[in-house]
Amino acid sequence: MTIPVFKRIALVFLLLVQAAGLCAKDFVLVIDAGHGGHDPGAVGAISKEKDINLRVALAFGRLVESNCKDVKVVYTRKTDVFVPLNRRAQIANDAKADLFVSIHTNSVAGNKTAKGASTWTLGLAKTQSNLDVAKRENSVILYEDDYKQVYSGFNPYSSESYIIFELMQDQYMEQSVNFASMIQQQFKNYSGRNDRGVHQAGFLVLKASAMPSVLVELGFISTPSEEKYLNTDKGVGSLSRSIYNAFLNYKKEWECKNSNADTGKIENAPAEQPVEAVQSPAVGSDEGRLIFKVQFLASSKKFDVASDRFKSFERVGRYEDGGIYKYTCYDSVDYDYVNRMRREVAKKYKDAFVVAFKDGKRVDINKAINEYRNKK
Ligand SMILES: [Zn+2]
Repeated sequence: MTIPVFKRIALVFLLLVQAAGLCAKDFVLVIDAGHGGHDPGAVGAISKEKDINLRVALAFGRLVESNCKDVKVVYTRKTDVFVPLNRRAQIANDAKADLFVSIHTNSVAGNKTAKGASTWTLGLAKTQSNLDVAKRENSVILYEDDYKQVYSGFNPYSSESYIIFELMQDQYMEQSVNFASMIQQQFKNYSGRNDRGVHQAGFLVLKASAMPSVLVELGFISTPSEEKYLNTDKGVGSLSRSIYNAFLNYKKEWECKNSNADTGKIENAPAEQPVEAVQSPAVGSDEGRLIFKVQFLASSKKFDVASDRFKSFERVGRYEDGGIYKYTCYDSVDYDYVNRMRREVAKKYKDAFVVAFKDGKRVDINKAINEYRNKK
């Protein structure tokens, strides 16, 4: 059987339209070179943090601009100018950015041996040295005349000010930590840097940005050999390429999520049923079975699953993933039931989504839903 030419053309056209539909929304990336102008950032023996940050930020941006035509790159600064901290986050929010990358260089007073790169996401600092990194980076607000009003009395040097990060819920934590891990992998494997890992701390610039966001500390300007490396074309080229590689990996995942039903918004989802009428199907023996759960919270804090704060949900569970605690509820073998419960949970935790597990391991949700539908 041959297909008439016009039908073939129509078919190709249809496929093209579908393919275009997968990446219909352009990705907006905001690159934030830390410090600038009269704020030098950390100062080394031969250079200033603001200049290293800008060089790496521009090199990273150039790689994205020349290789990813579907990505819009927005810079908080492209020259040596001062930009207030909240303005940086505002630029990202106004651009409706999908990802925010803030680029910095580390420093430890009185230390000339600290080495390596680290990537940070918003959260509660677990150690004093982690808190110190946030204190140093947040202290830039002191360059702003009206910082007391603008940052509601936040004192960057007072540990008490950081209590706000304990109560905060970051809905983008999972994505931010995921991207941060990708960057660290590249720093270690591509650039051969000492891997200082992914950490959380209370960075004001990340707190104010409403999207997945990370803060990179490229290396230590206070360590002579690192400062030298950070000021070479090789160093700038390699570090910016590492961040770019991680960005490509992150974007690939993002495209899959945005073209599939990972958020639980299944098109042919069954009609809503009154919650009271729903029988919660028993899970029984878990071995080899797909278990669906509603995931509603990710936090660096370990909460008791029997705690009062979760008492409105049933079968609350917790698992650890990449140093982050994730909280789930309503586990069941019945995807349709779990998806209905997700809508209930979303009234309280609006970004709740369905996850799937098999033999205690998290598995791809789209494959799991397919498997569930095929067996039904
Ligand atoms: Zn900095």
